[in-house]
Amino acid sequence: MVKKICPDDRWAWVEIDLSALRRNTTAFKRRLSRGVKMMCVVKADAYGHGAVRCVNAMHTAGADQFAVATVAEGVALRDAGIEWPILILSQPPIQSVQTLVERDLMPCVYEPDFALALGEAAAAAGRVAKYHLIVDTGMTRIGVAPSEAVELRRTIDFHRGIECAGTLTHFATADVLDDWDFALQLNRFRNAVQAIHDAGMETGLVHCNNTPATILHQECQFDMCRVGIGLYGLQPAETTIGAIDLEPVMSVRGRVTRAVYPEVGAGVGYGMTYRVPKRNIQIATVPIGYADGLSRTLSNNMDVIVGGRRVPQVGNICMDQFMFAVDVNTTRTYCPMPEVREGDVVTLIGVDGDERVTADEMAQLRGTINYEVVCDFGLRLQKIYV
Ligand SMILES: *Cc1c(COP(=O)(O)O)cnc(C)c1O
Repeated sequence: MVKKICPDDRWAWVEIDLSALRRNTTAFKRRLSRGVKMMCVVKADAYGHGAVRCVNAMHTAGADQFAVATVAEGVALRDAGIEWPILILSQPPIQSVQTLVERDLMPCVYEPDFALALGEAAAAAGRVAKYHLIVDTGMTRIGVAPSEAVELRRTIDFHRGIECAGTLTHFATADVLDDWDFALQLNRFRNAVQAIHDAGMETGLVHCNNTPATILHQECQFDMCRVGIGLYGLQPAETTIGAIDLEPVMSVRGRVTRAVYPEVGAGVGYGMTYRVPKRNIQIATVPIGYADGLSRTLSNNMDVIVGGRRVPQVGNICMDQFMFAVDVNTTRTYCPMPEVREGDVVTLIGVDGDERVTADEMAQLRGTINYEVVCDFGLRLQKIYV
């Protein structure tokens, strides 16, 4: 049975199962070799799951540090009273250095001007700002070239206002088995780390593994792993299925706000892209739309679950609502659906009875990945922690 939890002001919500989140966190923590730290990636409001509540649950389950994408995300965690180390997975605009110092947020660094501005801001505040040096070993996104890592460090290390607390890179193909590009990236990273050591400098915590690498590549855990999507119970790729058991943390549900039996031929929604084909078709409305993360590209091409059974979504998905159809006709070969009523719980992602819709199924229908599906549902729907 689906629990009848629901916000009072809108019949639409995402359910976040914090005990599943803790179990997933523990499952990853167990995969780490002794002494290897776990950095939990909570960017984009913890992939749509709500960063503050998730950070606290993850810490209970053994997380050591946290990572976000933007300065604002880091500030929001500090405002919520979270005091554990936070890394920003980019080198933010130079104008943000004072905020970084004041809120004790570690940026990634790959340019000397930024590093020195950070040092100046820290020195002015009588502090030492920690940063992580990011190396671009082949993804061509952000970072210093491996061949220039030592020189960058030599250029900035004189500054007493900064301290290198870590050295990292990011893999582009960690989910591909026996991949040459992955091997090349790892090799370049090892060499850059070695060169920094050989030059007599500290690297801080060395880290490169994201979720797929943490699952598939025990050999390069170094000092820390950065786990994201797996904590939320989603597989990063097909190659990791079976290698680790994970429980989805997010369910997406709404309740029927109206259910009617239109005339045969009646149109449903903008453009009337669905027309009621026969008698005894019930059209029900749910207050979730594309502004809530239910992509309009899914229109007339997805199922929802009601009363433990799959039914088709029909008509174009609106900004704030969508409709689905229930065929209550009885035929010799077809077992009719029971009628739906106002207030019935509808599941878009999650389990109801014996039926389940996964973020992966929805991602496949949308032509995207589960990461984007959960991020999108985090945008506006109220989160209920269970
Ligand atoms: C997003 C991100 C991660 C986490 O990736 P997952 O695939 O979700 O584990 C780790 N490191 C960096 C630099 C990232 O941007």
